Amino acid sequence: MGKAIIIGAGIVGLSSAYYLQQSGWEVTILEKGDLSDNCSFGNAGMIVPSHFVPLAAPGMIEKGIKWMFDSKSPFYVRPSLNFDLAGWGLKFMKSANREKAERAAVPLRDISLLSKDLYAGLTKDIGDFGLTNNGILMLYKTDKVGEEELHIAEQARNLGLDVASLSAAEVQTLQPDLKLDVLGGIHYRCDAHLNPNQLMALMQKYLLAKGVKIIKNTEVTKIIHEKGKITSLLAGGKQYSANHYVLAGGSWSPEIAKRAGFKIPLMPGKGYSFLVDDTAKNMHIAALLCEAKVSVTPMGGKIRFGGTMEIDAVNDRININRVKGIVESIPKYFPGMHPALPETKDIWYGFRPCSPDGLPYLGNSKSLQNLTVATGHGMMGISLGPATGKLVSELINGQSPSMDINPFSANRYA
Ligand SMILES: Cc1cc2nc3c(=O)[nH]c(=O)nc-3n(C[C@H](O)[C@H](O)[C@H](O)COP(=O)(O)OP(=O)(O)OC[C@H]3O[C@@H](n4cnc5c(N)ncnc54)[C@H](O)[C@@H]3O)c2cc1C
Repeated sequence: MGKAIIIGAGIVGLSSAYYLQQSGWEVTILEKGDLSDNCSFGNAGMIVPSHFVPLAAPGMIEKGIKWMFDSKSPFYVRPSLNFDLAGWGLKFMKSANREKAERAAVPLRDISLLSKDLYAGLTKDIGDFGLTNNGILMLYKTDKVGEEELHIAEQARNLGLDVASLSAAEVQTLQPDLKLDVLGGIHYRCDAHLNPNQLMALMQKYLLAKGVKIIKNTEVTKIIHEKGKITSLLAGGKQYSANHYVLAGGSWSPEIAKRAGFKIPLMPGKGYSFLVDDTAKNMHIAALLCEAKVSVTPMGGKIRFGGTMEIDAVNDRININRVKGIVESIPKYFPGMHPALPETKDIWYGFRPCSPDGLPYLGNSKSLQNLTVATGHGMMGISLGPATGKLVSELINGQSPSMDINPFSANRYA
């Protein structure tokens, strides 16, 4: 073994460090932030083998265009003359068809199931981060969406996932103390949820105790390479070198790749979340409100609501109308809940690293032989974190990977 440097301390970087350290590597993580926040903290914490349909699914273009004219809609692409966005959009359009979506289903299912298994082992090692294996409910209110959800549930069954289609009364039996107004629901018993803030804190603590160096407030600004190999990195005014490097920069990965002389098509997909007290402790099973595209996760005596996907450059704007859209959807499904619009300081936002075809980038770089790329997990980075870390370490150790990773090739658009 030798020295490995990981760029980025989100769930993907930390999971890669976890498996590399276990297999004997001396690991350093370089992180430009202070590690109190990134996309891996305030998200909905869902582990989702049920999400085998990528964002680039048939019908998304039509829905996306309609939603662009609604300021409270859950999906938005900021129209701009940005070259990266145009290229990404074209690739997204080429992927949003039945054939490509069907081809993505098996690899997405497999990496999700692998990750879910690994979470069970992880919690034994690092401590309790609220891993709850009671599934996720897809709740719907309209016949049209119900039909779509039943169709996806049928596909899930064919993929061997544990799923039940429920009437409104059956959903109510699962959540007996919660007032519900839905037409029905799908219970993905194969899914789970966790508390991502606790997960990130425990991962850091564990890694530090194992001797992994996590160097904060240190942005990788230059990547020096020669004859197809990285020789060193410049970060925070210092030079760092290692035998192998991992690019796990989340939504910033394209600019890091550019510094290394290659391209990764990826756009940030901004989403918001906020916490509401669940004083009655009535919410037990995490849910997705299908028409509203809002996530609902019980988390340490509170409920975290999350949603929206704004494809735009990284920015600090809070689009309060979209947060309003989330707030207004809640009593439509849970008539007893009327949360107030949160204050700006209580609204969290993060940037999902979205690849155009909805599959992560996971594999060795074509141009630099000592670089492994691990990014582009979009809506599923928490779900896929441990599997990604394990596959990264297997690749670097020259072992045969636990699953076929060819569909995730980091060079598929090169
Ligand atoms: C509202 C919302 C809800 C979500 N819900 C879920 C969910 O329920 N389940 C799920 O699976 N996923 C969910 N996600 C998606 C998930 O949060 C992301 O996919 C995941 O956090 C991405 O992890 P990452 O490690 O790739 O990126 P990040 O967590 O963003 O980490 C990347 C890190 O790289 C660092 N970095 C960047 N550039 C440099 C540089 N040059 N030098 C050094 N460091 C650098 C950044 O500072 C950052 O800390 C949700 C996302 C949002 C926004």
